[in-house]
Amino acid sequence: MTVNFTILGSAAGTGVPSFFCDCSGCREARKDSHYTRTRTGAFLDSGDEKILIDAPPDIRQQLIREDINHIDRIFLTHWHADHYSGLGEFEYYVRLFTGEVLPLYLPADAITDFISTFPDLEDVFHLIPWEYKQKYSFDDIALIPLPANHSVETVGFVVQTPGQNLAYFPDTAGLPKETKQQIEGIDYLICDATFYGENWYPHSHMSVEQAIQLGREVKANKTILTHLSIHYSQPVTTRQLEEELKDDKDVMIAYDGLQIKLSP
Ligand SMILES: [Zn+2]
Ligand SMILES: [Zn+2]
Repeated sequence: MTVNFTILGSAAGTGVPSFFCDCSGCREARKDSHYTRTRTGAFLDSGDEKILIDAPPDIRQQLIREDINHIDRIFLTHWHADHYSGLGEFEYYVRLFTGEVLPLYLPADAITDFISTFPDLEDVFHLIPWEYKQKYSFDDIALIPLPANHSVETVGFVVQTPGQNLAYFPDTAGLPKETKQQIEGIDYLICDATFYGENWYPHSHMSVEQAIQLGREVKANKTILTHLSIHYSQPVTTRQLEEELKDDKDVMIAYDGLQIKLSP
């Protein structure tokens, strides 16, 4: 059994290109849609279980692009708009199509935020506050929320399969010591690389350089950089980044639609 992990979106909150930006990275994406990045989210598919991690504002286009027409449950890493504001897209899926409430695992802190943000959707989702370090098993796969360092209550998820395992930390500034120990030697670390050059938010995000360093520190077999802003502090194009990292076989740059096969 091969479990597929798909990167639905690989951009930080503003997306690439940003409507207000004319940096080299945004120009590259305007010229060639191959370099476009939608906001960060992922999809885990074991065949029997189809799990969404985060619901970014671009979720509708992402699901259509990847030909995904069924979702069993949603896990949120944290309550920031670039990760939750697509939840409204599931209203019609539930009301008109499945008729079954959708389990939504979220931070306990975010339950009141959910109710005030989506007052009409309380019957669409079954809200389940995730618990740190709890193993959520569905058939042969499991998700384990582990603490991350971000501005609000945030986790990343370890995805365990009968084959390879993966750690997904889209928004974090380094990792707490215990989380690092728990992901040591992981097959894939997919992590926050929001900034290129100077890190403007060192307490909530990482730079490309810091993300690569973290991958080395936890001895990840492969580090995949995601949540890329491309233009916050020092603009960079994806082509420049690729050129810069081409000799580092353990590091790769995420892109929208990237599929990771967690093979046995
Ligand atoms: Zn984010
Ligand atoms: Zn965030």
